[in-house]
Amino acid sequence: MLRFVVRAFVSQRSLFNSIHQLVSSTRFTTFSDFRCSANAPDFLSATQYCDYLEAYTTQFDLWKHIRLSTRVTSVRRHREGHIVTYTRPGGFIEEWFCDAIAICSGLHVLPNMPSIQGIEHVPIVMHSSEYKLKNQFGMNKNVMILGTGETGMDISLFAVKSPTKSVVLCHRDGFMCVPKAS
Ligand SMILES: Cc1cc2nc3c(=O)[nH]c(=O)nc-3n(C[C@H](O)[C@H](O)[C@H](O)COP(=O)(O)OP(=O)(O)OC[C@H]3O[C@@H](n4cnc5c(N)ncnc54)[C@H](O)[C@@H]3O)c2cc1C
Repeated sequence: MLRFVVRAFVSQRSLFNSIHQLVSSTRFTTFSDFRCSANAPDFLSATQYCDYLEAYTTQFDLWKHIRLSTRVTSVRRHREGHIVTYTRPGGFIEEWFCDAIAICSGLHVLPNMPSIQGIEHVPIVMHSSEYKLKNQFGMNKNVMILGTGETGMDISLFAVKSPTKSVVLCHRDGFMCVPKAS
């Protein structure tokens, strides 16, 4: 039988601060070999989904393969394989030899801040990646959110539920927003 040693390196897990509730249904988001219980809500909250992923990791004994808060800093060829260099928590630098690498670094690591004329006159401008807590909206402030993707919609919801004065959600092309069934 062929056996593989797999290691997953993950540098951060910041997305969940800006997610209120998943937009994909529980049934379609969970893995077929590990479903949520029948009485789980149709749409999981970010916390419930984190709990689900942790339970999945435990169920299939995957924790030993995962290195959290570990940033891969370089990859170089070595003989028939590759050497991965990574930085562990505390700044410890280590290397690992492997035969194959899958790079799944996602879309959300580098913020894309558009250049908008006059934006320098707005007292506080923040990219969604900097959003962590509701108190960042302040008290009695007028908040404008640019973009109506998943992040824009979720952050708007947090803003509306905060002690803001007004919340304006902007889009450039129009969009369709359909309420969830539950
Ligand atoms: C606000 C919001 C809400 C969403 N809601 C849903 C939803 O309800 N349902 C759904 O199905 N999808 C949803 N999505 C989309 C979903 O999050 C993405 O499709 C999914 O996360 C993509 O997975 P990924 O593994 O490709 O990348 P990511 O989830 O972005 O994972 C990439 C990982 O790579 C790590 N990484 C990057 N560089 C390095 C490095 N040098 N060393 C080590 N690690 C590194 C990052 O830290 C990160 O953990 C949502 C997205 C957003 C922004």
